[in-house]
Amino acid sequence: MGTPNLLIGLSMLGSLLYLLLIFSVLQRRGLREHSAGLLVDFVLCSWPWTLGHLALWLDGLPFLPPPLIERLLLYNALLLSIIFFHLTRTFLRRDGYSRRWWITGLVWLLVSILLGEQLLPRPNPIQPESNGALPVDTLTFWFLTIGWAAFMGSALWLSGQTYAQIQQPLHRNRITYWFTVMGLIIADALLFLTGSTTPGGGLHLIGVMIATYVILTHGLPDVRHTARRIISYLIITALTVALYTAGILATQYAFQSVPGYSSWLAGAAIALVLAIIFDPLSKMVQRLVNQFISNPTYDLRRLVQQYSANISNVLDLEQLATMAITFICNELQIRRGAVYVIHHVRRPGQDWPNDYFKLRGIVGTGEGLPPGIELPEGALQPQSPVVENLRDLPSLSQYDIDLLPKFQGTPPEEKAWLANLNMDIYVPIYASGEWIGLLTFGPKRSGDRYFDQDLDLLRTLADQTAVALENARLFDDLKYRNEKIEQLNYELSVANEKLARLDQAKSDFIGVASHELRTPMTQIRGYSDMLLDMLESDSLSPETESMMIRGMSKGVNRLEEIVNKMFEISKIDTETLDLSVEAVSIKEVIDDVVQEFDAALQERRQTLSVDNLATLPTIIADDDRLKQVFMHLVQNAIKYTPDGGRISITGRDLGEAAQRPEDAFVEIVVADTGIGLAPEELEHIFDKFYRVGDARHHSTGQTKFKGAGPGLGLTIARGIVTAHGGRIWGESRGYDEMNLPGSEFHVVLPVASSQLELISSEEFEASL
Ligand code: ADP
Repeated sequence: MGTPNLLIGLSMLGSLLYLLLIFSVLQRRGLREHSAGLLVDFVLCSWPWTLGHLALWLDGLPFLPPPLIERLLLYNALLLSIIFFHLTRTFLRRDGYSRRWWITGLVWLLVSILLGEQLLPRPNPIQPESNGALPVDTLTFWFLTIGWAAFMGSALWLSGQTYAQIQQPLHRNRITYWFTVMGLIIADALLFLTGSTTPGGGLHLIGVMIATYVILTHGLPDVRHTARRIISYLIITALTVALYTAGILATQYAFQSVPGYSSWLAGAAIALVLAIIFDPLSKMVQRLVNQFISNPTYDLRRLVQQYSANISNVLDLEQLATMAITFICNELQIRRGAVYVIHHVRRPGQDWPNDYFKLRGIVGTGEGLPPGIELPEGALQPQSPVVENLRDLPSLSQYDIDLLPKFQGTPPEEKAWLANLNMDIYVPIYASGEWIGLLTFGPKRSGDRYFDQDLDLLRTLADQTAVALENARLFDDLKYRNEKIEQLNYELSVANEKLARLDQAKSDFIGVASHELRTPMTQIRGYSDMLLDMLESDSLSPETESMMIRGMSKGVNRLEEIVNKMFEISKIDTETLDLSVEAVSIKEVIDDVVQEFDAALQERRQTLSVDNLATLPTIIADDDRLKQVFMHLVQNAIKYTPDGGRISITGRDLGEAAQRPEDAFVEIVVADTGIGLAPEELEHIFDKFYRVGDARHHSTGQTKFKGAGPGLGLTIARGIVTAHGGRIWGESRGYDEMNLPGSEFHVVLPVASSQLELISSEEFEASL
């Protein structure tokens, strides 16, 4: 075994190294970071591991017999595996701290110690060796080994799983280093467990050093790149040696017999030839190796020229974005990419967020981004580290955002949004100092990281895009505003049309009112003047008097009726139409209405039939208001049907199939064989003061053919029906005074009263 002096020297060297490691962790990170704290724990516990191995080499120390050292090292191995498992979790950013795993590990360790130190009752206690130390028994050994294997295996499994999940090469590169660390630590422990003391904790020490380096260093050298370089170097060296040897052998064979041949000179000549061809040879080998590991090279100038030519004349934002991103992804062999445009939103005087950058995804292409997929919209605050770095740096990588301490202050929602994009690199686009766009790229197809050369190219292409993007953005803005103006124009023309109709209705109203009110007023004035004259000349007979007073009363009635209608309308308008609801039989309502028109029907020689009303269920409604509705409908049917025509009132129960009472409705249809209605009038006839045709062409009279009214009847009818939670509409095959297509007016009313409460004021207003 080793010489004591050498071992003491080695342990001092090992200790010094561990101290240096702890010092560098504390100096670079402090203990605030979770991973740094765990790393210090790990280094501290690795120290006795190395020292223990050195002590074993010495065949134990006076106070530490080898069996005791072996046991202590076994406990140490388990403790190290527990800490390493947690370090791995933190390193991989997997949920951070977990109390459950700590407790499991420490309990396992405690039980192992109790077993190993014979503190638990067991059937055959092991006898201590002569020097008083207990050997490790099989049970303790296996218990410890299983614990160690479980924690190290979990760390390995977790790393493998994360490596498979993560596509970003920089993250993968970092995990590759971790695999090396794990390999060294596991190998060292396995050698110890299988009884070999040869490496003496040396592999473990190297593992700890690499782990410290990996955790403390952000920009780790690229493993693939380094491997490629080493391979090229090895190939070139091998080729050089092979060529040299072949040259020497060949010259020897060919010129040996030539007098004056000097092997020294031949060697020098071959070396000269090799020196001349070395440079092109090494370049060729490097290119071949690069090609072999699929690292495409590109002609920078051609690419930039072609790109500028492609995008320079595109004004459509989407087309530009598609062109740009497809071109870059194809040429650089990138798996996916997306273009975002940035809008700086400023809303002074409002609560947060009143100043932020809105990122609107225009186009995404490549794996995981099928065409037409909606890119999620994002918002970044101007003071967020991400925005600040995008301002200062030519590009930003997701790896930096994930790991660099300066990004720790990034708002969680911004971090989540960025992580969700699943991209590797962000390249901002600036035009005249303003941030206008963002190019985002996923991993390269080769699995390589983005090298400086790639980032320079992306930066140049982003600069090339700036002007075109700014133009397209302005154009897009213009297009959007144009569309908005068109929409406004349309709305304006609709409003204008409505206003014109209202204006027409108003003039109609004045015409109708003057016409409608003047007739009864002239009648009243005529009778009153005559009455006065006759009274003065004393020529008034009782018969004439009663005839005149009857005439005056008829005029007053007519006036009252018109004024009442106007009053009703104003109530509907102001939503003050009261309903006093009760159970109502539709048949009784209609019978009452029909009775009112008996005389008119006779006079106009019209027939009125009533069908299927008796079978209708009673409904919850306002009896008087319903009468009003059907009075208007029947009156209109009489008015707009020539003499001798037919009118029918039919009922239909719509609630038979209804599952719930609130879904049950009844329908009443008032149909006539009159002049009908043009399709374009069918909706307008429900407007206030609206009457088909010129008001002056209508005759007066409530039931005369085409007798004019103030154009309020249907408005009132609709107001009442809607207030009941029902619907009313007209149907007709057209307006034709010759062929008389007739009209139908449908009234649908709910059976249950709950509908009455359901009707909202907006619906009510909309119905008018
Ligand atoms: P009015 O008081 O003038 O009758 P309404 O509001 O009741 O007003 O009707 C509006 C217009 O609808 C009427 O001027 C008429 O032209 C048309 N109209 C109503 N009912 C019928 C019908 N049954 N047949 C044809 N036209 C009708």
